[in-house]
Amino acid sequence: MFNKENYATLRKELDARQVTLVAVSKFKSVAHIRQAYDEGQRDFGENYVQELITKKDQLPEDIRWHFIGNLQRNKVKYIAPFIYLIQGVDSEKLLKEINKQAEKFNRKINCLLQVHIAREDTKFGFSLEELSAVQPEQYPYVQVCGLMGMASFTDDKNIVKAEMERLKTAFDHYREQYGFTILSMGMTNDYATAIEAGSNMVRIGSLIFGNR
Ligand SMILES: *Cc1c(COP(=O)(O)O)cnc(C)c1O
Repeated sequence: MFNKENYATLRKELDARQVTLVAVSKFKSVAHIRQAYDEGQRDFGENYVQELITKKDQLPEDIRWHFIGNLQRNKVKYIAPFIYLIQGVDSEKLLKEINKQAEKFNRKINCLLQVHIAREDTKFGFSLEELSAVQPEQYPYVQVCGLMGMASFTDDKNIVKAEMERLKTAFDHYREQYGFTILSMGMTNDYATAIEAGSNMVRIGSLIFGNR
């Protein structure tokens, strides 16, 4: 389903704060994505390469597709020609492969470096220490636009807030040096906290499209 009312309310709230909404459409049908598109939504996030490609072919050309999942290096080539922003870049090996494929397709690919901020070790990403060793200028076909993170899955707002503030501090630290403009954090359950902490891009699925 596409919840038009939730979408309208959310969009108003985010537009007022100049926060970009990435509508997370994984497992959702092309028809439902189309409904959101018809309401003016243009940024959509997908987690799986095959699913993304299948959907992209059936939807308007002016959609900005965000890859938000865990991207395997051998699949970069399938999305390299068109992807708008790869959000979950979690290793230098992946950066290197994105750079290589971007060069092949003669374009610069926008990426966010994913930083591990949660307590769970199941979540992907650079540690803050690893992040400090990354040199974006080594990848001329990659535009590193900023950082992405996922907070711990907990109802304890203080934990979520503290983790997000750590990411915001890192973002501010590298902002000028690397020309970062995007800080992507916040999902259905924690987007309000994320915006308070300084996020300017949220990735929201369930609130718009219902539970998966
Ligand atoms: C699925 C997903 C989301 C959206 O989650 P909701 O809780 O449905 O808003 C956001 N970010 C990532 C990385 C995801 O995989």
